[in-house]
Amino acid sequence: MAKRMYRNMQIKCLGGVGEYGRTSILLVGTHSTILLDCGTDKAGLTHEEQYPLLNEEIATSIDLVLLSHSHEDHCSALPYLYSLGFRGQVLCSDLTRQQVPSYLAAWREMNEKKGIPLPYRVEDEKRIQYRTFAEPLGEVFMEQLDLYVKWGSSGHSFGAVWYDMEFEGYSIFFSGDYHTESALYKYYRPEEKKRDIAIVNTAYGVDRKKQAEQVKTLEELILRALQRGKHVLLPLPKVGRAQEVLLTLSKLFDKLDFEFQVIVEEEIVRPLREMESAAGWVKDFEVNELSEQFTIVCDEKSRIVALKNGVPTIILATDGMMQTGPASFYFNYLSETDFLHIIFTGYVAKNTFGYHIIEHPSSKYKGDKVRFKVHPNIIETEELLSGLMADRTILTHNFKVENDKVAEFLASNGFRNVFSIRSGGGIEF
Ligand SMILES: [Zn+2]
Ligand SMILES: [Zn+2]
Repeated sequence: MAKRMYRNMQIKCLGGVGEYGRTSILLVGTHSTILLDCGTDKAGLTHEEQYPLLNEEIATSIDLVLLSHSHEDHCSALPYLYSLGFRGQVLCSDLTRQQVPSYLAAWREMNEKKGIPLPYRVEDEKRIQYRTFAEPLGEVFMEQLDLYVKWGSSGHSFGAVWYDMEFEGYSIFFSGDYHTESALYKYYRPEEKKRDIAIVNTAYGVDRKKQAEQVKTLEELILRALQRGKHVLLPLPKVGRAQEVLLTLSKLFDKLDFEFQVIVEEEIVRPLREMESAAGWVKDFEVNELSEQFTIVCDEKSRIVALKNGVPTIILATDGMMQTGPASFYFNYLSETDFLHIIFTGYVAKNTFGYHIIEHPSSKYKGDKVRFKVHPNIIETEELLSGLMADRTILTHNFKVENDKVAEFLASNGFRNVFSIRSGGGIEF
């Protein structure tokens, strides 16, 4: 193919920049347009707050979506995108494709509960056209778009990837959600070379804490509660952090010498079984050790039988912000008679039930937050950016005040053109 002439490249942030949620970043080239992720924001109460800044004109101009992973803040606005007239494909891993429907359903369920109407029809969920890949590290060339794209497992969740592109002559790196310290998910380091732009997740801002320190804090909190005879509820998202928390804590539970029990929802254990045969995406682990130690439940009947045991109980249940899923069942059941200590290990968005619990403890329950790392700290950010050697960097996945600090820190460490901007903004080069 003859080399086409290209003008400049525009990056338009439609969501997820200067805020936490609804990640959606548009790459507008001379001939083609690509969208990176298309997520929603759980904290939002209005259409404007929940969805990316999309309209028919933008949706019909997009040629391809690159989807980093299945979490709702990255994928749940896809049906809305199709309802606006998008007719292209969504590139993602097979694993992500398998997980997306349950996140779309949870998004719908949450809005039904909140009484917020959807801007699309349920049938639009079925219109998503996927183009998937199985390998955790790979590449594809799409001649029509002049797009050469590599991906690599990003260490954040099962099937989550970063994308490294050559698009219309520009080299563009998009980190998606990534984490280099995961004990379960493999992280592939992108090639060290110069990029025109890096679009990176800085969800933990300038925090320097390592996973080991965070896990220690979490274990101590759980232990104290159990030793005082209290029940502990860990609300977790379906895929990603949930399985890693389960494996990490199972090592702690092995060592305890007092009476207690662990109840785990089947939907959290199930992905682990699939992960066992997904070499390349995950590190080595054994599921079999878990099944005897834990009581695995899947419906109300089995939950109630397990809870009748009477001993201090630790429960792992979905979802992470207690909006949908069994976590609300345990909350209602246990906080009626016993004291329930709820420990949130991830981000809890405003206007969710989880947020309400943390803000308004009662004589029956309280909520604490202890981070279990699934995103990069500032040390990992610096390391990634050193290898990317980018002329420009856009910080995503955090509030503007936090990303201002990241930008300042990076500038003082010699990184050039680091942009802490807001959704609605963008850059051109
Ligand atoms: Zn995620
Ligand atoms: Zn995310």
